[in-house]
Amino acid sequence: MPTIKKSVKFSGVGIHSGAPVNMVVKPSRRRGIFFRRTDLDKNLIPVKFDNVGDTKMRNTTIGDLDSAHVKTIEHFMAAMFMAGIDSAIVDIDGPETPILDGSAIEFYRAISAAGTTGGKIKRVFVRRPVYVGAYDVFRSLPFWMRAKIWFMNLLTRRNIDGFVKLTPNDNNSLNIYATLVYREKIIGYQSFSYTYDGTKKSVADFVKNIARARTFGKYAEWEYLKKRGMARGANENNVIALNDAGDGTLNKTFWPDEFVRHKIIDAIGDMFTSNGFIIGNLESYKGSHAMNNMLLKKLFSNPDNYDIIDA
Ligand SMILES: [Zn+2]
Repeated sequence: MPTIKKSVKFSGVGIHSGAPVNMVVKPSRRRGIFFRRTDLDKNLIPVKFDNVGDTKMRNTTIGDLDSAHVKTIEHFMAAMFMAGIDSAIVDIDGPETPILDGSAIEFYRAISAAGTTGGKIKRVFVRRPVYVGAYDVFRSLPFWMRAKIWFMNLLTRRNIDGFVKLTPNDNNSLNIYATLVYREKIIGYQSFSYTYDGTKKSVADFVKNIARARTFGKYAEWEYLKKRGMARGANENNVIALNDAGDGTLNKTFWPDEFVRHKIIDAIGDMFTSNGFIIGNLESYKGSHAMNNMLLKKLFSNPDNYDIIDA
């Protein structure tokens, strides 16, 4: 039951609310990662795939949107996983984690510097292939939402495609292979792979090649979203903004394929809502938080799909 050695505080603004938020990650004797909304009822909100309330706004929300919840937990969760921590209480005084620089690096640096104590994260071995397609997510939506997506796709000549897939491997690692396909030329077709096997080398690889990759979005969408109370905290310091022509960015990128590298952070964070180290190959082709969440639900819905080893 590895937990954090001492408390760490993060302050910043939420990417959607734009409001200041403080969050303190504290050691815990209870297994699991729990948020506690100090501005509300202070009930524990377990960070668990079966307690994911919403994935529509391109982020992962824990808890019910109608009651105590915390949005955009994925970058923080990726950092916790890489630091080897599966148990903590996270006091937070708002509905969303601070976006910081839009990547996982600040979370990771501070959490790993605080240190880890008390063993290892349990391992979850994938035993049978599990697959979720974009269409499976579409089908699960309420009728009005399906109608809206269907209509929008017709207008923009888009299809419902993409999938995420977990398959077994025998090298004791989580291998992630992610692909993005965008019409915007600056992204186009990008793939990136990353392997975590629990060694320091694989953590160093994460820090060097993945952790700094930031969230991205279309600049033209910001104004639209901001009017609707979303993306209010988005700025050129925490989001890579694509220009209107789609052939460039308004701020500098660290790498030309920073976009797909960021997808790997999201995938690591989402997979860690299992509270385990998933041993398997994760292939994500135009994947999403919604697909990642459905994939975990499917994996754990049948005991033949996995084995848990808690050393
Ligand atoms: Zn993200």
